[in-house]
Amino acid sequence: MKKKFRPESLMMSYGYRPEWSEGAIKCPIFATSTFVFNSAEEGKAFFEVAYGKRDKEPNEKIGLIYSRINNPDLEILENRLCLWDRAEEAAVFESGMSAITTVMLEYLKPGDLILYSMPIYGGTDHFISHFLPSMGVNVLGFGPDESKEDIIFKIKDTGHSDRLKLIFLETPANPTNDLIDIEMCSEIASFFSSDDNKVVTAVDNTYMGPLWQHPLEHGADIVIYSATKYIGGHSDVIAGAVLGSEEIIKRIKTLRTFLGNMAGPWTGWLLLRSLETLKVRMDKQTSNAQKVAGFLDGHPLVKSVHYLGLLNEGSRYYKIYKKQCSAPGAMVSFEIKGGEKEAFTFLNNLPLFKLAVSLGSTESLAQHPKTMTHAGLEEEHQLEIGITDSLVRLSIGVEHPDDIISALDQALKAVEKDKKAEEELMAL
Ligand SMILES: *Cc1c(COP(=O)(O)O)cnc(C)c1O
Repeated sequence: MKKKFRPESLMMSYGYRPEWSEGAIKCPIFATSTFVFNSAEEGKAFFEVAYGKRDKEPNEKIGLIYSRINNPDLEILENRLCLWDRAEEAAVFESGMSAITTVMLEYLKPGDLILYSMPIYGGTDHFISHFLPSMGVNVLGFGPDESKEDIIFKIKDTGHSDRLKLIFLETPANPTNDLIDIEMCSEIASFFSSDDNKVVTAVDNTYMGPLWQHPLEHGADIVIYSATKYIGGHSDVIAGAVLGSEEIIKRIKTLRTFLGNMAGPWTGWLLLRSLETLKVRMDKQTSNAQKVAGFLDGHPLVKSVHYLGLLNEGSRYYKIYKKQCSAPGAMVSFEIKGGEKEAFTFLNNLPLFKLAVSLGSTESLAQHPKTMTHAGLEEEHQLEIGITDSLVRLSIGVEHPDDIISALDQALKAVEKDKKAEEELMAL
């Protein structure tokens, strides 16, 4: 049997042939809105398949029609994205939010029920809590500590369990790295599925990225990414992706064609370029993050550190982590001793890092979830899910680890100096 190459070895060439473009080693940017047919018969054949009037013949190659439907930069990107998650098909979108909302709009109709995990990305939370109910969809959230039996009971209790259509998860959850058991959720989906109603499980895998957690292997039907984060990885592009079986992605791409929220060729090309270094970037970011977590853990000014590499063996989260992730990733959050004042002093005195939201990029980023990414949540809900005044979230980049730690040390020293000055003032 021919040995298969790993995704990182294929990211430079897979799905593209230089003879398509005058021998160009890299796929050019196909800046074109429309594609020329060789004959009227060919145009007719392409449209029959694109509009679902007939299925593709076994060896029929479906040609390019119009860039809202397909474009070489997007198609090659979609083929390469499939390799990491071992998915059959992928669809690329102009943002992570358009990927998420297109999945929800495809699977939810008025009267249906969606079950979703909390905490969840702010934009997703807003769409679920405000937009979906406005079109008559019932929504039900659950937390990382609820058992399978608790959740099944809650679903039955809504009175809409026969209309459960979509289970939507985000794990690890932003910003606290709480974990949700994907296999458990797919079992809940099976429990409520019937012959004419298959409950679909979708996982937003943005926070872990495509390398170290493959939700499809744990029973999920759909994987979603904000490609703005690790996949893009350079803080210079907004994009999203949905992956799954051929059958699912056919539905998603059909809706994408009519919503018109596909990414453009320039975005496709930028992401192809980013994918070439995804593995080296993420390896370096994770090894740096492990060092950062080690430095913060036990620091006298730090109350607690939330990092997957620091989970206690034997804990419930550790078991889920071992089952579904193969590395701890580059997202670290921690509580500084004190409150908002100490957190802000830390952020305002942190060199090298950029004070900005987003994550997974080459440069290290820091932010304050309670007043920034998660400012939209009710305070009671924030506290319930561990988003306190003293919580700081870090996305670790590819800088030299000693420089990153030196930067954190300088910021913590500034907090300490501030504290001392205050104590002296009080003593006067
Ligand atoms: C950023 C993010 C999104 C939204 O993606 P955009 O590309 O900004 O639209 C969705 N989910 C998670 C977990 C994210 O971090």
